[in-house]
Amino acid sequence: MAKRLKEPSTMILDDLVVLGRGAPNNLKDGRISSCVACWSPRVGLIRLYPTSWYSRKIRRWNVIRVEVYQAPGDWRRNSYKIKDSKNFKTIESKIEIVGRIPYPNRHDLIRRISQGYPVNLFYDDYQVVEDNFTCPDELNKLHQSMGLVIPFKIIEHKFEGKKLKIHYKCQRTTPWSYNCESKNGHWATVLEDGVYQWLKKNPTKKERVISNLHLYDDWYMKYFLIGNGVYTPRSFMIISIFRFKRERGSIGIGQSVK
Ligand SMILES: [Zn+2]
Repeated sequence: MAKRLKEPSTMILDDLVVLGRGAPNNLKDGRISSCVACWSPRVGLIRLYPTSWYSRKIRRWNVIRVEVYQAPGDWRRNSYKIKDSKNFKTIESKIEIVGRIPYPNRHDLIRRISQGYPVNLFYDDYQVVEDNFTCPDELNKLHQSMGLVIPFKIIEHKFEGKKLKIHYKCQRTTPWSYNCESKNGHWATVLEDGVYQWLKKNPTKKERVISNLHLYDDWYMKYFLIGNGVYTPRSFMIISIFRFKRERGSIGIGQSVK
């Protein structure tokens, strides 16, 4: 008799904010998947994998409702799967859009996530979620697999094929914390799908992506959403880059305005 696989216990998350999506990768069976980074006031930062790269509902700032379970065999506590995600023909019907974060609220949401504060967007009974480890070295120490980093200084960048790599130094955001302890900063590959698609379509205009991201522009406050690989726990990649224009005259935490 065939052994029956135990059904994993699922939960419904109806407050998941989509924060970003990685470049597509081809699975052996022909599905085109990508890794999606989300945040919920209840569970903090999570990754959803696999998801269909063609999904129209998985868009940054959409708030979605999905039934998920923790990815079995993945040591990273933030890894989840959508129920029945093996079938990409029906996966889209398992995702429901329940809202969208309005433009003026986006920076505040990202700032609060980076500070580890819970954000009561839709619920009164949220719990405190700690995701305020804003350095890859610190995430490593704590065996965490995702975090939101404030790059204090962008040192340089380079292109390797269709991939952008950024060298940066980060900073914690709370007044009692220290600056990034790493002497030489961190190199990270950018996985963000938007960046990848631009480089793929515009191989002769690679540098344009740097100005589009306002990478060296101090008038833009930047945040990197980073995550590591299941087999490469020490290597953090940038899943999503957020940039918000500062108000004139304001000086934000962690970055100087000339
Ligand atoms: Zn650091």
